[in-house]
Amino acid sequence: MKIHVLSPDVYNQIAAGEVIDRPYSVVKELAENAIDAGATEISIEIEEGGKKLIRVTDNGEGIAREDLANAYAPHATSKLKTAQDLFGVTTLGFRGEAIASIASVSKMNIVSRVRGGEAFSLACEGGVCGEILPAAGATGTEITVRELFFNTPARLKFLKSDAQEEGDVAGMVARFILSRPNIAFTLLLNGKVKYRSFGDGLAAALAAVYGGDILSRCYELDADKHGIRLHGYIGDRNYSKPNRTYQSLFVNGRYVVNQTVAAAVTNAYASYLMKRQYPFYVLFLDIPPEIVDVNVHPNKADVRFADNQIIYGTVYSVISAVLDGNSRALEYLVSTSPKQEKIPVGEDIFDPHPATHSAPAPAAVPEPVLPPKQAPASPKMTYEEAKRELEFKIPPQAGQGTVPSRGKQQPIFGVSEPTQREIDAFEENKKALMEAEKKQQRVDPASLEFKGELFRTYLIYECGDDAYIVDQHAAHERIIYDRLREKMEKREVVSQPMLVPFVLTLNPAEFAFLVKQFPVLRELGFEIDEFGADAVKVSSVPADLMKMDLASFFDEIMTSYESLRAIKLTDLLKDKLASAACKAAVKGGESLTEEEVKALLRRMNGDMGLKCPHGRPVAVHVARSEFEKLFKRIV
Ligand code: ADP
Ligand code: MG
Repeated sequence: MKIHVLSPDVYNQIAAGEVIDRPYSVVKELAENAIDAGATEISIEIEEGGKKLIRVTDNGEGIAREDLANAYAPHATSKLKTAQDLFGVTTLGFRGEAIASIASVSKMNIVSRVRGGEAFSLACEGGVCGEILPAAGATGTEITVRELFFNTPARLKFLKSDAQEEGDVAGMVARFILSRPNIAFTLLLNGKVKYRSFGDGLAAALAAVYGGDILSRCYELDADKHGIRLHGYIGDRNYSKPNRTYQSLFVNGRYVVNQTVAAAVTNAYASYLMKRQYPFYVLFLDIPPEIVDVNVHPNKADVRFADNQIIYGTVYSVISAVLDGNSRALEYLVSTSPKQEKIPVGEDIFDPHPATHSAPAPAAVPEPVLPPKQAPASPKMTYEEAKRELEFKIPPQAGQGTVPSRGKQQPIFGVSEPTQREIDAFEENKKALMEAEKKQQRVDPASLEFKGELFRTYLIYECGDDAYIVDQHAAHERIIYDRLREKMEKREVVSQPMLVPFVLTLNPAEFAFLVKQFPVLRELGFEIDEFGADAVKVSSVPADLMKMDLASFFDEIMTSYESLRAIKLTDLLKDKLASAACKAAVKGGESLTEEEVKALLRRMNGDMGLKCPHGRPVAVHVARSEFEKLFKRIV
């Protein structure tokens, strides 16, 4: 390993670097360096919230004598040499500036020894280095940082209390323990052990952080979909936490906070948890590195995915399969808690029994339209294969083609914006994958035999060795919702004039913003016009949404404006459609006639994977073997 000083042109391609502003950032950088050095044991000590002392000791590869001074030099790194290397970064650090930054605001000492060599030390105070001296030490590196910010008193003032700084460091070390379950970590706070892990796997790491009984409350899962692997632990259906701090996501080994994944998990739990209850999870998402942009916020632990929908879909479908206990989950479940019964392997519902009736065959799922000359994508296809198949090219890299720009100060690398053609091919591929998946959840409606009704709410069907229980309200809701949405998507909405127009007064910025939305709103069935200088008037609404609460609808539009979120009116309207559908649907507790039962099933078209617009399952599958277990016929 050799430390190189990056040339300015390489360096300048890199986004604004880490800011060393707190003990937290020091510990993070030092621990990441230890991990990058291949350590299997890392010990972290902090005293007085890290203000007095931070020491990170590792048994990694060490720094050779001739590289010690370079380690302190700004923009010096052993982890990459050229701009090209940026596209395949596998180490946590690569900017080569953390040590230099920390050394400039503290009293730092590095003691290091490479395998088979001698130990040497080099101290540095406020950025001024001393001399390299022989030292004593085991193979590996020990970095001590004393009196952080001793020469920048202004920054000292911004630190939180010792206890708060300690809490933040502990939270981060916990995430290191989880994300690197094969490394043994010790965290000492003022000489007391806060965490100790032994590097013996993820289950033990969870226990080290959350206590021994956490495992009995979790499902362990491991899924591979579309070349994306999702594994880890999620709380069972009845386990929740009062806030989000019990949620950890690691993308390609790196802790991140990501709205797409958080929303997918939250929505999968939607029918199990109440408001203000949050699921517990420790999840790992492994994605081909070229489709993740790791450099969005170097400090804010955010990532951007080249395709949010495929990530959302993968996470949502895996988590909900596991929670809803449908038979697909078997592919994903590694183990359940001892108290949870394992979902038995029933007949494969995805291989429907051939229809014996002469009833009409279900409407065929339309074949996905693929770009010409390309074979239909198979659901087993990996991301790599899908890309190759569709000639989805990695966009040109910096220096070879166009450098994507999104603000001058922050060049983005990793993934540049795909061209329209690439997006089209990718969309098609995704559609094909989703259709293929949908197909699998289908059963032939003709093979379903109606067996009766429970509690005037649930309809029972038998199909070979499988039973399905359908929630009539959820099913009806979903059918109405689909119909309304289709009309909206085809822009076939009928406008319904209102007796009394709705007038909304706005401030000038809001007004300008809303006026820009007029064309879309009109297409969706609203008759909306300016009304004086600062108000708008709504005189017609989509007929299906006659009863919607216009005030709250426009409120929501304005909220998205304020938070500068990309506003998607159709999404907002979908919410409104969902509640309209809910009001119109038959309620549980109202018995249906035989005709109505048949009509409902006909319209579900054998799709047992349907969810109601609020995300609850429409049908639940129970295999014969599950009944046999209940009656102890089999174990
Ligand atoms: P970066 O991690 O971005 O390369 P740093 O300033 O954090 O930059 O570290 C500079 C260099 O010092 C690293 O590239 C590495 O060669 C060396 N180094 C730092 N910490 C360690 C360590 N714990 N073990 C081995 N080498 C280290
Ligand atoms: Mg580093």
